[in-house]
Amino acid sequence: MNFKDRLIQDLDALRCNGMYRQLSVVPDGMVNLSGNDYLGLLEDDALRETFYAQLSGSDRLLSAASSRLLTGNVPAAIALESLLAERYGTEAALVFGSGYHANTGILPALVGNKSLILSDRLNHASLIDGIRATGADFYRFRHNDLAHARSYLERYAASYDEVFVVTESVFSMDGDCTDLQALVQLKRDFPNVVLYVDEAHGVGVFGDQGLGLATLAGVHHEIDLLVGTFGKALCSTGAFVVCSNAIRETLVNKMRPFIFTTALPPVNLAWTHFVIQALPEMHARRTHLLAMASRLTEAIRQKTGACVSSSHIVPYVIGSNEAAIAEAKRFQDAGFYVLPIRPPTVPKGTARLRFSLSAAVTDADFERLLNVL
Ligand SMILES: *Cc1c(COP(=O)(O)O)cnc(C)c1O
Repeated sequence: MNFKDRLIQDLDALRCNGMYRQLSVVPDGMVNLSGNDYLGLLEDDALRETFYAQLSGSDRLLSAASSRLLTGNVPAAIALESLLAERYGTEAALVFGSGYHANTGILPALVGNKSLILSDRLNHASLIDGIRATGADFYRFRHNDLAHARSYLERYAASYDEVFVVTESVFSMDGDCTDLQALVQLKRDFPNVVLYVDEAHGVGVFGDQGLGLATLAGVHHEIDLLVGTFGKALCSTGAFVVCSNAIRETLVNKMRPFIFTTALPPVNLAWTHFVIQALPEMHARRTHLLAMASRLTEAIRQKTGACVSSSHIVPYVIGSNEAAIAEAKRFQDAGFYVLPIRPPTVPKGTARLRFSLSAAVTDADFERLLNVL
């Protein structure tokens, strides 16, 4: 079979298995409940214009035109990293091109030849790719079951130099959260544990200053690698880790997706810096977002009997694929851009809608959403 025919046959197989993916465009005028603009910054023209008005010097450049290690170590990158380290109270911070770069590169750079990795079963694909790339021994613990993670530590921790425990703070499909206090307890009980927490959906949304769930739980100082992304609530692009100096220097020396890629554009780094500085004042947005989230979660609990969300991502589990598709269409016809999520993205028989709320949703639209539900 020739190359093109093989591709067409493989695509047909994806279609038959209901796994075919397509690029689509959000229709104009719909309330977007499928994006990650949690604070509603994307279409805030005033905020954007304030940013542009104060933008000056090299921060106006649209490209770094080089990797960080060559000539791309621009002032905006240095300023952003020192702001992050200061805000989180860590020794150091390092910025990456994306969360995908961060998660695929950090573990391969840090894992030694006597390291073990324990990973939540529902961790994001980028974390899984990073874990696989290490070649290290790893086990997956049941989702959000830290007692299960602990049982692996009891059995194996003593046989390894260090055990990386890798999880997320807010999980993207169910909107449920890790008990970060219980997580750091693992490290207190097993001193060779290294904690790695991905806060992609937590940064911006949780905590007094909008720095994430770990700061809300008051345990961020005990997490060795706290990763956050800029492309979601912060409405920018890129990602960061806050960590010790030793970790940062190791990453600068060994992390391939940091070394072998062009640094982020200065204008983007400056925008991220601007948004992070403004985060403490975005309290009203967070309050609005989380108030809607708890009302929606409660409404879904009343309707279906269960909803595990404790965040701004709220699943509405329906069951069959057909019913989920029909229900999504009902919301779309009412002007809400909600998508059905089906197996294999979620377990068989748990097809669902996923409401990804945004502070940009008005009270009036939200009441309408509850009515449609
Ligand atoms: C979105 C996401 C990423 C990837 O971040 P990008 O900056 O979009 O590459 C990583 N981890 C989690 C948990 C995510 O949800």
